[in-house]
Amino acid sequence: MINYNSAAEVARVLRSRGIVPKKRWGQNFLVSAGVREKLIKLIGPGKEDVVWEIGAGLGALTSMLTGKVRKLFIFEIDPGLIDFLKEAFGSVNRLYITEGDFLKRWQEVREKEGVPDTICGNLPYSSGSAIIVSLIKKNCIPDKMVFTLQREMARRLIAEPGSKSYSSFSLICQFVYKVKHHGDVRSGSFYPVPDVFSSIIEMVPHNRFTQLKEREIFFSLVDDLFASRRKTIRNNIFSGKVARNYGINTLKKALSQSPLNLERRGESLSVDEVVVLAQRIGEVNSGG
Ligand code: SAM
Repeated sequence: MINYNSAAEVARVLRSRGIVPKKRWGQNFLVSAGVREKLIKLIGPGKEDVVWEIGAGLGALTSMLTGKVRKLFIFEIDPGLIDFLKEAFGSVNRLYITEGDFLKRWQEVREKEGVPDTICGNLPYSSGSAIIVSLIKKNCIPDKMVFTLQREMARRLIAEPGSKSYSSFSLICQFVYKVKHHGDVRSGSFYPVPDVFSSIIEMVPHNRFTQLKEREIFFSLVDDLFASRRKTIRNNIFSGKVARNYGINTLKKALSQSPLNLERRGESLSVDEVVVLAQRIGEVNSGG
């Protein structure tokens, strides 16, 4: 078993297997006992839980989850790391390794095994937001997600409407999740040391919009509202996806009955305001 808390040892294992950490796969390995323990405490693995870990690397978190949950699915893209994981964890009961790009593989796992109870990981900086958005848009909503992410991305997750960090990513995440920031992580907690700071994030669904029929309209509206940050709601919406998909007349009717001031900027809208607008467009579209 590797001493995961030693950067020198992690570096030695990687070197001995000819693995050079790659930026494009966000390979910064956790080498801090404190951060690993904090993550496991937040994950709170339960005996009956099915857990997915995204980007297992050399197994810094995997090693702390094995034997504690009913089923553990780990995902890894790097062939060199996959070989290592197979050797280190291949014989562990109820641990399943999915090889390749998480974004391309996770839906097969969900089809066979259902939505997990928890998703966790020290997410690659390169594809962290794409991973979270993909899970939300395709309605894979576990009871909890616990990640380390780039601090900038964590700020966007918790940003308030109208603030500098508020973005389509904020709206999409806040549509489903209550997001808690559990502190920042020093760069020195990783090997190699990244040029950006990281944060620990916990996401728990608030279940406020689980019955919303207009999910697709909501996501299209979010894209439209942030198409150009400087434009007003009116200008963004009338030249966007929703107008194309549902027609200008539907949009005009829905907006004429909405109390929204169309001269505001899209980036000032809260999740609730976008949901109400999506519902109105849906009603008008189905003849209401
Ligand atoms: N969990 C390990 C740790 O904490 O030391 C590694 C974390 S490292 C930040 C991110 C890991 O995700 C790397 O092992 C990388 O190869 C893997 N990875 C990057 N992109 C991926 C993707 N699209 N699908 C699956 N794994 C990916």
